[in-house]
Amino acid sequence: MNGGDSLAFDVHPHPAPVTAAERAALLANPGFGRVFTDHMVTVRYADGKGWHDARVEARAPIPMDPASAVLHYAQEIFEGLKAYPTADGGVTLFRPEANARRFQVSAARMAMPELPEQIFLDSLTELITIDGQWIPQAEGGSLYLRPFMFASEVFLGVRPASEYLYCVIASPVGSYFSGGVKPVTVWASREFSRAAPGGTGVAKCGGNYAASLLAQAEAIAAGCDQVVFLDAVERRYVEELGGMNVFFVYDDGTIVTPELTGTILPGITRESVIVLARQAGRRVLEQPISFDQWRADAASGRLREVFACGTAAVITPIGAVRHPDGEFAIGGGEPGRVTTSLRQSLVDIQRGDAPDPHGWVRRV
Ligand code: PMP
Repeated sequence: MNGGDSLAFDVHPHPAPVTAAERAALLANPGFGRVFTDHMVTVRYADGKGWHDARVEARAPIPMDPASAVLHYAQEIFEGLKAYPTADGGVTLFRPEANARRFQVSAARMAMPELPEQIFLDSLTELITIDGQWIPQAEGGSLYLRPFMFASEVFLGVRPASEYLYCVIASPVGSYFSGGVKPVTVWASREFSRAAPGGTGVAKCGGNYAASLLAQAEAIAAGCDQVVFLDAVERRYVEELGGMNVFFVYDDGTIVTPELTGTILPGITRESVIVLARQAGRRVLEQPISFDQWRADAASGRLREVFACGTAAVITPIGAVRHPDGEFAIGGGEPGRVTTSLRQSLVDIQRGDAPDPHGWVRRV
């Protein structure tokens, strides 16, 4: 099939480069993003030809001409989602259609061709099927899938490229919190912002992460775990962390999260948390929240819990905020009750241990 909404994948199985014993040792303590499976998926795009040449083959370096457009103008997008082992030996994905759609939104913003949803979903299934033995079975483990796409055309002109490579690799990951869920300290950067109105904040493009690294380094230097970004115009409103969205829990049970204004990445965990919290009878508001308000509400005790959420760490409590003028704490240093219960509800659905009334879980 050529250039259609789905493609037949040409599968070239490759003998595993490691023994079963070596793989078991790697899976015992994989960390995050350092261990990779044996295969990768690639699909090519060319103007006039559409999507073509879908392959599953040995994971290997990608030869690249030094004039490939991505190396100069950063036309690149990616996604991140996990395949979870189930108690009955199966494998599930959590809302992969939402990742497929966000990949299309990212592509449109970066003037790249949109990958049809079916090709995105099939590419994940192909890789999970061939590399299934790399899914950690230990408590809290999963296979992190990284679909990405970049401009592969060999041309130095500044315009949307005419050729792209879509690729999926996979990395077994352990439980994000080996010592249990502990609140993190975040750094509110005054100098650096992540995304401006009209910019690329809504897209999951590599450039956004390159732009966040100096602020993240500032956070580490200040003894913090993560950056919380404020809006680029006034440096007044809370937006999100470097790789997670943020939620505020008040003493009357209301939950507030910054509204999606185009500068924040629409997290799939964020949307799921909103649905689960409303289902549990809570009031959830999507509205602006200023940094000053955050500080005042933490001081008055009205603000009970703050947490960040995303695919990698699911839900992480935020226990303290440091900024150039000082520091303030939220709650008593332990994960809050609402944070813990939302986390448990989400993890139970993702791992197939709870009913799935919203049809979020896909068996592979
Ligand atoms: N914000 C940013 C900037 C991110 O990189 C991520 C991770 N994709 C998120 C939020 C959370 O998104 P999700 O819940 O879809 O993982």
